[in-house]
Amino acid sequence: MPQSSTYLPLDALDGERVRVALAAGAIIGTWFWDVKADAVTVDPALERAFGLDPSGGRRTLQDLIRSVHPEDQTSLDAAIQDAISRGGQYVHQYRTRHGDDAWRWVEARGWVNLDASGAAISFPGVLIDISERRRVEEARDRAEGLLNTFVEAVPGVVYAKDRQGRLLIGNRGTTNLIGRPPEEYLGRTDAELLDNQIQAAAVMAADARIMASGQMEQLEEEVNYPNGKRAFWLSTKAPLRDANGQIVGLIGASLDITDRKAVEASHREIEERYRLAALATSDAIWDWRMADGHVIWNEALATLFGHDRLESSAQWWLDNIHPDDRERIGDSIHAVIDHGGDVWSAEYRFRRADGAYADILDRGTVLRGSAGEPIRMIGAMLDLTGRKAAQAALTESEERLRLATEASDIGFWDVDLVNDLLIWPARTKAMFGISPHVPCSMADFYAGLHPEDLEKTSVAFAAAADPAQRALYDVEYRTVGKEDGVTRWVAAKGRGLFERDRCTRVVGVAIDVTARKAAETQLRELNERLESRVAEEVAERIRVEDALRQSQKMEAVGQLTGGIAHDFNNMLAAIIGPLDLLTGRLDPEDARAKRYVDIAMEAARRAAQLTQRLLAFSRQQPLQPESLDANKLVAGMSDLLSHSLGGDVRLETVLAGGLWRTHADPNQLENVILNLAVNARDAMPEGGRVTVETANCYLDHGYAEGNLGVAPGQYVLIAVSDTGAGMPAEVIAKAFDPFFTTKEVGRGTGLGLSQVYGFVKQSGGHVKIYSEIGSGTTVKVYLPRQVGADVGTDVVTIAHPLPRGELQEVILVVEDELAVRQFSVDALTELGYHVFSADSAAAALRILEEEPSISLMFTDVVMPETNGRKLADEACRRWPHLKVLFTTGYSRNAVVHNGVLDPGVNLIGKPFTLQELAARVRDVLEK
Ligand code: ADP
Ligand code: MG
Repeated sequence: MPQSSTYLPLDALDGERVRVALAAGAIIGTWFWDVKADAVTVDPALERAFGLDPSGGRRTLQDLIRSVHPEDQTSLDAAIQDAISRGGQYVHQYRTRHGDDAWRWVEARGWVNLDASGAAISFPGVLIDISERRRVEEARDRAEGLLNTFVEAVPGVVYAKDRQGRLLIGNRGTTNLIGRPPEEYLGRTDAELLDNQIQAAAVMAADARIMASGQMEQLEEEVNYPNGKRAFWLSTKAPLRDANGQIVGLIGASLDITDRKAVEASHREIEERYRLAALATSDAIWDWRMADGHVIWNEALATLFGHDRLESSAQWWLDNIHPDDRERIGDSIHAVIDHGGDVWSAEYRFRRADGAYADILDRGTVLRGSAGEPIRMIGAMLDLTGRKAAQAALTESEERLRLATEASDIGFWDVDLVNDLLIWPARTKAMFGISPHVPCSMADFYAGLHPEDLEKTSVAFAAAADPAQRALYDVEYRTVGKEDGVTRWVAAKGRGLFERDRCTRVVGVAIDVTARKAAETQLRELNERLESRVAEEVAERIRVEDALRQSQKMEAVGQLTGGIAHDFNNMLAAIIGPLDLLTGRLDPEDARAKRYVDIAMEAARRAAQLTQRLLAFSRQQPLQPESLDANKLVAGMSDLLSHSLGGDVRLETVLAGGLWRTHADPNQLENVILNLAVNARDAMPEGGRVTVETANCYLDHGYAEGNLGVAPGQYVLIAVSDTGAGMPAEVIAKAFDPFFTTKEVGRGTGLGLSQVYGFVKQSGGHVKIYSEIGSGTTVKVYLPRQVGADVGTDVVTIAHPLPRGELQEVILVVEDELAVRQFSVDALTELGYHVFSADSAAAALRILEEEPSISLMFTDVVMPETNGRKLADEACRRWPHLKVLFTTGYSRNAVVHNGVLDPGVNLIGKPFTLQELAARVRDVLEK
């Protein structure tokens, strides 16, 4: 073959290298295309390769294109056109003829030279044989495609991992499982993809084991993915090796067995239960495997029907059902199975081995797979033939029992746990408010229980039926009548019956104890009421006792102070009287003597006042009560009160209209009000307000009961309130005690309130302190209303000059105390009277007899032997015109009853001044 250098394109292609390549077989040949002339020059090697006719002369591009594989011609043409339009590098692969009917893959590589205007001038190139390379590539692509298709097609999860456990490939199952697209899981390990690191560690440990051992393994794995999927996998894993047999990772395929696991677990459990139950029980149990229609059953069932076998086909079973029942049973069982039901039950006749039909109650439970498909049905049969007979017997014995218990309240009950039956006679039904002929089940029992008693009753029942406890069932519960709604109390007792450590029945009796319960409740209520009554009474007694103790204390202190006061009065009478007389005899020039006497007189008067208060407290001051209008009395005091209260304290008087009259000693009442006002003032050192109020008032029985010594009725209220410091409870408790004071020495005597107390009590009234710390105090004085008494006897006392007697007026002084008698005699003599004296009643009567001119007897009340009152009675009986003036140191004596003088009795209390005596004597003589 001539090798024309002109036509060889080698110059353009780096000739030397091309020649070497040609010689080495790395290239098939070369071409040169004069684009403008459309003349293609090829070397002989290429000619051969293309199977071109060497004598073909001038060749155009189309001549060459025609020689390539028909399928590749179009693309080749397009690639060439593309190359010459842009110039530069050109690479294209296509098939060329390689002998008859054989084609081989070649790669053309060339270069397009463009002129200045961008038009292609020349296009030289080489052709490389790439058939081997294409073969390998295709095989690889095919294998890869096959693998992908295969991996995708495999059900379940298929994956490959490298030695580090990174996922290299995963199928759709893997993608679904992980819940992320492949680009998110490829290259990651289980530790990165699983939620549970313990599981991830377990998976990776298994992977490492397989890669280390080179052994394929099948294992169950539990995995939780972050997408919430929890799964059980049955995984097959094998080592992944490279071309040299080195282990470079592993491949795995996993099947999701989550549902199977769950179903297996539940079936295992149910099976186990039934197996145990079937073994332990005398119940007739059967087990129908639906996949193959195989039925097995236990000994108890075999015994029940006498069939000498423990298994059969479902068909055999059906064949043994009474022909009349067969279709119905078939339908009913399929109705349950086919419609997703769980429980089936029916009554039918089943043929025994001896050919007779037994009445049976059959019940079954359908077990289903994860897709809800029925897998098995397990059931129990009950021979009703026996039960019917037993029930007949039972009815008979029940009847006997019924008759036996008819007269009583006892009903019995029988719970058949095996057959879930409840047997109640009419009597028991009645306790649940159910008519005799209504059939009852356990549901009726529980439905009839009072909700509050439900729990204790079922707990007791469970304990009775528990083979480990075998407890006595002993409860009292309430029932709510099913038909009548009536609540009844029932006391029930019973015991479980056990068969081989299994409770089959619980039987017992029940008694309607409603009446007893009612009585008990009533009794309890009565007891409670009684108890609270007792508690009340005890509290009342304590209160009364407290009040009594308080009044007894007051009484005792009163008697004591009364006794002291009496003696004091006698002494004071002997001091004041002579001082009075002494005053009259003093030298008017002797001013000093006069002053001494005045000082002594003042002290004696103060002492007398104190004694007076003590007497008042002991309720033994002689009172001269009269009908009075408290409003008038308070109004009349306003000057005195304002004066006593001082400038910083405002006085307010609130006087009720239509105020009732009361009967009291006005002088003492004034004293009381004054005392209260002074206390109010003392409680308000910074000033404030004192309110004196009057009101009509009714103290009812309730109030009287709560306040010892208060008679219910109408009272006139005089209340003195202040806005002062108030009194704490412990001060209130003691405030009335004589000598109780919280004031500093010299300021308080502690006798103010005791005087108030004594006066009020002595006047038949009542006094009460209300006080609040910081807000003030109110002292309420209640004086009994005066009813039906003369009105308007207010005595206006006008101060006279010392009323004197005349010598024809003769007075007899009767006094056992020498000092007082002498003073009295002297005083009366001083006043101008003619005076006789006696130291006892007997002496007095003698003198009266001798001196009929005596017009007035002035006598002490308390004297040894015969007292003043008796003397007066005797004297007045004998000398009716004789006038009597009593005197006394205290009032507990004949003329003063409860502190009140008998009507018509004249009295002057000791100690008395000359002035007082003069006024009183004149008063009595002129009556
Ligand atoms: P005195 O006034 O001499 O202390 P009282 O018998 O009048 O004696 O009063 C006894 C005590 O009761 C007083 O010391 C005082 O503590 C208290 N008290 C009486 N009246 C009031 C009042 N209006 N406010 C506050 N405390 C009072
Ligand atoms: Mg006082």
